[in-house]
Amino acid sequence: MKKIYRELVELPGVSSHEKYVRQYMREHLEPLSEEIVEDNLGSIFGGVNLDKDGPIVMLAGHMDEVGAMVEEILPKGTIKMLAIGSVNPVVAISQHMDIILDDGTRVPGVVGAKPPHLLRDNQTKQVSSFDDFFLDIGADNYQHAIDLGVKIGQQIVFRNDYTESADGKKIFSKAWDDRFGCAMSLDVLEDIKKEELPCKFYAGANVMEEVGLRGATTSSFKIRPDLFIAVDCSPCQDTFENTTVGGTLGEGFLIRFYDPRAILHQGMKKFIEETAKKNNIKFQYYKSLGGTDAAAVQLSREGVLVCTIGMPARYIHSTTSIIHKDDYSAVKSMVMAMLKELDFNKIQEIKNNA
Ligand SMILES: [Zn+2]
Repeated sequence: MKKIYRELVELPGVSSHEKYVRQYMREHLEPLSEEIVEDNLGSIFGGVNLDKDGPIVMLAGHMDEVGAMVEEILPKGTIKMLAIGSVNPVVAISQHMDIILDDGTRVPGVVGAKPPHLLRDNQTKQVSSFDDFFLDIGADNYQHAIDLGVKIGQQIVFRNDYTESADGKKIFSKAWDDRFGCAMSLDVLEDIKKEELPCKFYAGANVMEEVGLRGATTSSFKIRPDLFIAVDCSPCQDTFENTTVGGTLGEGFLIRFYDPRAILHQGMKKFIEETAKKNNIKFQYYKSLGGTDAAAVQLSREGVLVCTIGMPARYIHSTTSIIHKDDYSAVKSMVMAMLKELDFNKIQEIKNNA
């Protein structure tokens, strides 16, 4: 995998704090694109093949990751945290987290856990919200934290760097959800040949997905796609439950046929199945309990054909996650194969096939 994947997961970018990820995206999109489109909330895309008489196809990841914000600096110099995105508070205990100061420097901290010696019997299972603990940055008191540069509203990110598994096939890191999709946009833009594209193509990433698909709502309004592809990580159930529609690591990209916010358009489903089979790309059906940016774009303007090409990932929305390199190949091959087919006739055929 290209080094953009590693560089992107290691950047900090809790929802509304996508600045460093956006800068990275801009630097890498500019040399690959004929036009850069940025909306007023900060989602950013590069367009290619724009003089083609073809439909507009849009590919997006999302820049934000789950984490926290500084809610309050307490008198003892500890930090009260506000969860951003859906994070089970249990996973935060005892973790290393960094506050990102206004100038970008990191203030390291640990989430303080009460040792068993200090717990009364009835307190052992009482972590139910971020209010049950605090971030300890080693500040002696309130003023010391202020002097270090800490301010209310700054982002707090998990520290779990990119690590390969012993067999070299899987990669552990924070923020696969969804720097994977951001990197995939750059990856595809870099490798797709203009001559193979029957469509105008925009690829990039949205802001604020984790707090309600906000960036996709505005970026798709601006770009007006005829067809939208979200590339996003979906949680695998394979280590927890036996189900064939819950995602298994290494078994191919996910056809998200159902989620509560977007049921896959039946014509799109046929198009995806046919394209995957024709190109021998491994896929699995996936039923999700959450939504992706596709749900927001589906309802943009007069309605848009959308799909999510899902990347299986274990343990997302926690402090870390795992992906498989074979699934990376499946997602990328699938996106490239779809792009080569999407002319006006294919779009019409997809609509007629519903
Ligand atoms: Zn996501």
